[in-house]
Amino acid sequence: MNKSEQLFEQAQQVIPGGVNSPVRAFNGVGGVPCFIKRAEGAYIFDADDNAYIDYVGSWGPMILGHNHPAILDAVISTAKNGLSFGAPTEVEITMANKVRELVPSMESLRMVSSGTEATMSAIRLARGYTGRDKILKFEGCYHGHADSLLVKAGSGALTMGVPNSPGIPADFAQHTLTVSFNNIDEVKAIFAKYPEDIACIIVEPVAGNMNCIPPVEGFLEGLREVCNQYNSVLIFDEVMTGFRVALGGAQAHYNIKPDLTTLGKVIGGGMPVGAFGGKQEIMDYIAPIGPVYQAGTLSGNPLAMSAGLASLTELAQGEKHAQLSASTEKLAMGLKAAAERNGVDLSVNYVGGMFGFFFTNDSAPITSYAQATACDADLFKRFFHLMLAEGVYLAPSAFETGFVSTAHSDEIIEKTLAAADKCFAQL
Ligand code: PMP
Repeated sequence: MNKSEQLFEQAQQVIPGGVNSPVRAFNGVGGVPCFIKRAEGAYIFDADDNAYIDYVGSWGPMILGHNHPAILDAVISTAKNGLSFGAPTEVEITMANKVRELVPSMESLRMVSSGTEATMSAIRLARGYTGRDKILKFEGCYHGHADSLLVKAGSGALTMGVPNSPGIPADFAQHTLTVSFNNIDEVKAIFAKYPEDIACIIVEPVAGNMNCIPPVEGFLEGLREVCNQYNSVLIFDEVMTGFRVALGGAQAHYNIKPDLTTLGKVIGGGMPVGAFGGKQEIMDYIAPIGPVYQAGTLSGNPLAMSAGLASLTELAQGEKHAQLSASTEKLAMGLKAAAERNGVDLSVNYVGGMFGFFFTNDSAPITSYAQATACDADLFKRFFHLMLAEGVYLAPSAFETGFVSTAHSDEIIEKTLAAADKCFAQL
């Protein structure tokens, strides 16, 4: 038994499924998860000292690569002054200003400790602001595990085939309306049916929790128009896309201004952080100035703020996003070419530093949940394990997005493609 196998056995004795977040258990691909000991740049190292090129990046935050010196220094020097005070600190202002500078639609914002908290709070705020109960989300989009949002959800919920989780009262779930991603006609139809009941639309502007599905032309614009027409709040969940598809997030890339934005992961540089923010008029509904209650003992924690600030400051320097996009394109197109060479049908999607690949002979671009879920997940499982054996760590599910970092050099991408060539040949 290797070390990861031993640790997984021990973990299962004391932690449900041996993991603190479901997808980590490799349910989507089978086998024993790699227990990670350390990471550096584009590489992670498991408990048995195997090195892997990492395309998970802690599910997004490691956009500058692992263990980036600027982030590490910020955390260490901040820690020396104390870990948490439960009182305001100056770094929270600097961080809020930094986020607003990069995402100007967030006129005012509040820090939380996870993406789930960010989306849950944004939805409560939208409901409080509009006085409406219903929300609209899209099948296969994942916005964390708050009750309203685990209805037809993506990510681990989709991987495990339980998109509607038990434990959520039907009375509650009935307020969550769900339509197809990239289908503006369905959105219009549901608003026509409930013209005065829908508090908000929440959307991943590039869906990243049913593999990677960019918006089709006109979809995000259509959502903006519908929200304007019905006085509903448009929430962009940029937990994945923020600072990743462009420095200003998907809203900058597609040039659409949401009313509220939720952020997570990336703004913590690896520490637990999230944020929600947007139009001042809406944000003024939040306690203590407004009636909608929202709070957090560790919100705006100094270590998390310093790590996030260092990460965003570094990201905003130079041509990082041009590099990220170029590396991601090279990887995605290279995977497609390698698959073709080996007679494997593969479709790829990518935007900025996000990519996805689908084992399918569907010749149309993959733009829907139905197409994504119709892909050959068994072939993905085999490919995943072959790549792992070659030292490439992909997201352990056919329904997750891949993440490239600025530490993924051309040489590392080429190494990945050489491994892929070998693995496609064995499928
Ligand atoms: N929104 C999106 C788009 C996400 O991808 C995720 C997590 N993958 C969340 C929200 C929830 O974030 P967290 O896991 O930090 O609660």
